[in-house]
Amino acid sequence: MFLFLSRVNHVKIAIFNVITVMESSSAQSTYFIPKQECQPASSNMASSSKRQTRSNLIKQQAVKIKLETDVNELLEEKVKVKKARKKVVVSMEDNVTKEPIMPENWETVLKNIQIMRAKKDAPVDLMGAEKCADAENSQEVKRFQVLVSLMLSSQTKDQITFAAMEKLRKHGLGVENIINTDEEVIAKLIHPVGFWKKKASYIKKTASILAEHYNSDIPETVEELCKLPGVGQKMAVLTVNIGWDKTVGIGVDTHVHRIANRLGWTRQPTKTPESTQKELEDWLPRSLWNEVNVLLVGFGQQHCTPVKPHCGTCLNRDLCPVGKSHVNR
Ligand code: SF4
Repeated sequence: MFLFLSRVNHVKIAIFNVITVMESSSAQSTYFIPKQECQPASSNMASSSKRQTRSNLIKQQAVKIKLETDVNELLEEKVKVKKARKKVVVSMEDNVTKEPIMPENWETVLKNIQIMRAKKDAPVDLMGAEKCADAENSQEVKRFQVLVSLMLSSQTKDQITFAAMEKLRKHGLGVENIINTDEEVIAKLIHPVGFWKKKASYIKKTASILAEHYNSDIPETVEELCKLPGVGQKMAVLTVNIGWDKTVGIGVDTHVHRIANRLGWTRQPTKTPESTQKELEDWLPRSLWNEVNVLLVGFGQQHCTPVKPHCGTCLNRDLCPVGKSHVNR
């Protein structure tokens, strides 16, 4: 920047000097080259003087062109400096907004939840997606069953999903068998899960896609899974985590979303499970991503319920903002 300013000053002084010289010469010393003289020279002196004047004008023109080039270069430099400055500011802002937060006492709060969940007797522990697949089947079939159970679980209680999965498994829950089963039959088997008619159609279409494009297995990535009919972000993350035994994200359902907000585990209140997932993944150690889903879902089913959470008996009542306000009332 200093170099740039000193170059600007230098050019300004040069321009000033040239203009002064030009003004002090004849009134014809304008910034253009005069036309060729048509008349013959009347004397040697007059001819020499004219040559001198033309020579001066050509020199002045050359200086002018040089100065214009310098000014243009400086203007370009100025634009570059401005752009560079903007970049620095943007990247600083990025750093500020992306800086992860580690919520105060989060380890103690998590430990307390693990203690309250020690019995592992919540519906999710006994009837969650991990409990819905046939242990004896091949890995491909188990993965398909995990996917189907997660498709059924949206807007549906674990008990109802589990019962529907039992009926489907008894019928035969593999890709080929679903392709050969009428949609109406699937719908009857999964009733009364939420949106059972739509889900029957999704399951049937998914089976055909898997047979055609994935050799009757399921895709290995969240992006590909999300392209299947009726499969959303949370389902896809949990399917990869459970089905492929890979930790690719935190499965955030309505329980995880609610509890994370109540505990102040997000920088500001979040409106969607997707934004909560991003917030949690910013600071929660990856080694806890798998565990935290089942831990918080069960905690939400038994303690931190959507309506009337049991703050009075919660071990986090003195650490949780909502608990503190409940207890102090
Ligand atoms: S204190 Fe209440 S709101 Fe906070 S985690 Fe415990 S049950 Fe949930």
